[in-house]
Amino acid sequence: MNDALPANAGAAAGPDLQREAPSDEPCAPATADAVAGGKGLEKRLLRQVGQAIGDYSMIADGDRIMVCLSGGKDSHGLLDLLLKLRQRAPVRFDLIAVNLDQKQPGFPAHVLPEYLARLGVPFHIETKDTYSVVKRLIPEGATACSLCSRLRRGILYRVATELGATRIALGHHRDDLLATFFLNLFYGGRIKAMSPKLVSDDGRHVVIRPLVYAREADLARYAQLRAFPIIPCDLCGSQDDLKRREMARMLVQWERDHPGRVKTIFGALSRVDPTHLMDTHLFDFAGLHPTGEAQPGGDVAFDEPPCSDPTEVVRFDSDQD
Ligand code: SF4
Repeated sequence: MNDALPANAGAAAGPDLQREAPSDEPCAPATADAVAGGKGLEKRLLRQVGQAIGDYSMIADGDRIMVCLSGGKDSHGLLDLLLKLRQRAPVRFDLIAVNLDQKQPGFPAHVLPEYLARLGVPFHIETKDTYSVVKRLIPEGATACSLCSRLRRGILYRVATELGATRIALGHHRDDLLATFFLNLFYGGRIKAMSPKLVSDDGRHVVIRPLVYAREADLARYAQLRAFPIIPCDLCGSQDDLKRREMARMLVQWERDHPGRVKTIFGALSRVDPTHLMDTHLFDFAGLHPTGEAQPGGDVAFDEPPCSDPTEVVRFDSDQD
């Protein structure tokens, strides 16, 4: 029996291991009209989260989900949406919010406990001074994020074990996935985005990203409408990840110049054809041989030029003479 949350679970509603990118939109309380207008947004986000959970079998009956709450807009949205989804989900699962207080200067330690207590959500605040460790080990001006993330990851995995969590939920969204995809493509030379569901690198936990179908702009708007108590993400004083920012700007510009392009690229991530790439680990090119049988929907081997203008085709053909 498949007891995972079905793909349409959210439709009925008619930490984060990585720092969240700062939003340009302030999270001020919204007006009553804006809240009323936000119902469609909430419905869309719930539908997308339910769809992602169903598509990737993220949650099963009886799961205990540790929601990593950094205090940024995305992790706030994640917790809020999962709480709403749980009320109408056909499977039973528990949520526990976890925040890691890294002892960054000016961290408002009272904000999240007060908020979570008000919501009535079980929570755990883990306090570990990774800030001092990073300051001690990383020279001034050098990028600290890699060490900081590693430390944070190890701590959160340990906490997940201690809390008996069967899933660790992170607040990465569609635009995080795309920025990571292009970072890997442009600077890492590989085709790789972020997994919606994976086994942690210590091999002991299942990590899920229920917001993978959600747009960052929607989450920023939702945070504003819901007036989440946002904790600034620049308390450590580290430099912004400039390359990641560059990717985000590029995607925004593409969308401006070619509306729909970002959505198309995102869709392509779940329609991969390994036979038309060149990775011998993904496809057994060496073992390829004629079967003697026609394959409906198979490759035509000599693709026609990607051109809808027949005159272009004629020109292409005549070029072959
Ligand atoms: S160094 Fe600062 S920005 Fe980088 S991961 Fe740590 S807290 Fe986030």
